[in-house]
Amino acid sequence: IKVAVPKESQPGERRVALVPSLFKQMEKLGVELLLEKGAGVESGFDDDAYEGVKAVTASSKAFKSADIMLKVQPPTVEEVGKLKQGSILMGFMAPHEGDTRIKELVKRKITSFSMELVPRITRAQAIDALSSQASIAGYKSVLLAANISPRLFPMLTTAAGTIKPSRVVVVGAGVAGLQAIATAKRLGAVVEAYDVRSATKEQVESLGGKFIDTGVKADGEGGYARELTKEEQAQQAKVLADHIAKADAVITTAAIPGRPAPKIIDTATVERMKRGAVVIDLAAETGGNCEVTQAGKEVDHNGVIVYGPKNVVSALCQHASEMYARNLYNLLTLIIKDGELVLDWEDQVLRDSCLTHDGEIKHGATRERLE
Ligand code: NAD
Repeated sequence: IKVAVPKESQPGERRVALVPSLFKQMEKLGVELLLEKGAGVESGFDDDAYEGVKAVTASSKAFKSADIMLKVQPPTVEEVGKLKQGSILMGFMAPHEGDTRIKELVKRKITSFSMELVPRITRAQAIDALSSQASIAGYKSVLLAANISPRLFPMLTTAAGTIKPSRVVVVGAGVAGLQAIATAKRLGAVVEAYDVRSATKEQVESLGGKFIDTGVKADGEGGYARELTKEEQAQQAKVLADHIAKADAVITTAAIPGRPAPKIIDTATVERMKRGAVVIDLAAETGGNCEVTQAGKEVDHNGVIVYGPKNVVSALCQHASEMYARNLYNLLTLIIKDGELVLDWEDQVLRDSCLTHDGEIKHGATRERLE
């Protein structure tokens, strides 16, 4: 079985879908690896690091023979066109957008496994790339805030006086939010956090954060949050605004699967914030949790800096690639048995993760959208 790993083509993407430390295990799986020249360089793994193992440094043209392609970013339509008809593709697929790409996957009968669709069940935790990458994003968001902030995060008692710790508010306490809380605590900030799911109160408190109770609870299907009603939104915004107004840094991570990011901080609330305060909006790429956010830009709104970074995980590409590649490897082990490709559709992880197979869209919501 030939497994190919290309250099990612999306501008700014520094991650790679395979890291050298996984070679031994890949070999044991019985696969032959094809690696595009320079694929890992941006992540700190130069071609030599991949040497000594069976990997061939291949050009992307050589990938026509690959049975399985491992990617980070969704492929471009052109990239799908270069895949072998009927081959397997694994990576983020952005199933909620990119309709022409999905149609091309169907046309070329590609079996695509979308990391966004991996079920959130215990058995699939080791494959859960949304989680592995979200925890990196949560960590980095706090460092970005600390970097932009004109204030120290920790309390300092010095001969030159005592510095009060920064106040950090984290909105959305999923995987990214919880890591943001932990990171801000490690930097010595006083942390408050909020989420609409009831289970999060205990999780926030176990990390040393104070839970903000807005009285709004919105537990939805499968342990995710549901969208709020207009009334709930107003109530949430009212309570949160008082906490946000006092914050030195706000990290927002709120998301609803397959929906645009909920708008949680309006312009009026940003205008109540202190000069020098910072908002890091991790939901920028899906529309942002803050009304002022412009994806990829540091917006200065009356002295408050609102920054919605794009692909924040790529900045930590070395560890992000290590974790992501491990997620992919674990998914591979589900379809390669004794050196043979076996697609067992009885397996829920494979069934749920599959976006397209044999000329059909397998993911229900995507099929409904495109048909
Ligand atoms: P996510 O990235 O989809 O969303 C981030 C957070 O935003 C969520 O916690 C969500 O509740 C919150 N949110 C949505 N609307 C909001 C609003 N209006 N105000 C405030 N917060 C809002 O979430 P995630 O980090 O991917 O995880 C979400 C769920 O998945 C959790 O239940 C988590 O425990 C579960 N999970 C399970 C597994 C597993 O069992 N393998 C792995 C990871 C996550």
